[in-house]
Amino acid sequence: MSSALANPNFEIALLGGGQLGKMFLAEALRMDVGVRALDPDAEAPCRWGVRRFAVGDFTDYATVMEFARGAQAAVIEIETVNVDALADLEAEGVRCFPPAAALRTIQNKGAQKDFWAANGLPTSHYERFDAASGLREAVDSGRWTLPLVWKLAQGGYDGFGVSVIRHRSELDGLPEQPCVAETLVDIAEEIGVIVARHPDGSTAVFPPVAMEFHPVANQVEFVVCPAPLPAEALAEAEQLARRAATELGILGLLAVEFFYTRDGRWLINEVAPRPHNSGHLSIEGCETSQFEQLLRCATGLPLGSTALRQPTVMANVVGAEGFRGPVAYEGLDEALSVPGCHLHLYGKTQTRPFRKLGHWTAVGSSVNEARSRAAAARDALKAQSTPQS
Ligand code: ADP
Repeated sequence: MSSALANPNFEIALLGGGQLGKMFLAEALRMDVGVRALDPDAEAPCRWGVRRFAVGDFTDYATVMEFARGAQAAVIEIETVNVDALADLEAEGVRCFPPAAALRTIQNKGAQKDFWAANGLPTSHYERFDAASGLREAVDSGRWTLPLVWKLAQGGYDGFGVSVIRHRSELDGLPEQPCVAETLVDIAEEIGVIVARHPDGSTAVFPPVAMEFHPVANQVEFVVCPAPLPAEALAEAEQLARRAATELGILGLLAVEFFYTRDGRWLINEVAPRPHNSGHLSIEGCETSQFEQLLRCATGLPLGSTALRQPTVMANVVGAEGFRGPVAYEGLDEALSVPGCHLHLYGKTQTRPFRKLGHWTAVGSSVNEARSRAAAARDALKAQSTPQS
């Protein structure tokens, strides 16, 4: 399969053309591997640099089939792609990263939970319901007590579709759709571990990262590596992540989000079978980035080392409050003068408050130094908008 390199006939079909796709594409361009991309937005970040950019709906069976047919491999950057199409593409010989069967399990939070339970992988106590009415009955009968965490089984994104329910009345406003109830976990740390799994069966696990939340906004503010936990605990998380990827039969990447509880247990919260925000720091921080590992899987090249080169911290560049419209960056000179910092902009043309427009990766001799650098660069750069006339 090494013929994938510098081969005009080898092409990867990329489903989704956002920032994750763009960072994958950057690696493909560096190693001269051809990529075609599909996204519903004609202005998507992947519109440049691909051999072919198709505007279309990656949730639609016929669109995905027509787009990806004839490619040697398909990779996704978003879980909502049409999984029946992936299955039929596999039957036609297109190798899919992830395989359709794994994606089908992951697409549904209830099916994911069942999978962990069936395979002896630790996760919080849970129950699946066909609709919120069933959960209300379970609470009214005393089978479930509050607080609990409600999650929409399918179709949630970025915190939408997840709520902590503390009062009975909050159950009344929930949509009558399949959902999962979970016990509210007493979380000490939220830790991410990304696994790359190659078609030859080999795996490479990235060093665990810790998500640091903003105390007020309750959004992830920094992703830091190494994570501040004892080496034995981190080794256990790496083993669990590797097992999760292997049991699921993942090819390509699996990003595993863990809760580390106050009493020292690991619980799998959820997984994503694609490049993940928690792995962006691997571009500058690790010997081989998550994007290059995915490319190596898709082209049949051997996996690289995931070793951390030095302490690394990532901070998102988000749209400033009070601005909406064509994005204009202020403070670039000051931000770019901070040592050890690397700016990534995703190519989104429009800003709105808190929209993810890019990220900073900062390296340093310690996590504290890297975090201060990332904070200084982030604070200096403002994603605003030119006043509209
Ligand atoms: P999403 O798919 O929107 O990212 P998650 O399942 O990751 O949703 O949940 C979002 C956040 O909610 C988590 O990062 C965590 O902070 C919190 N959370 C989710 N499940 C639980 C739980 N069972 N106990 C405590 N907090 C939780």
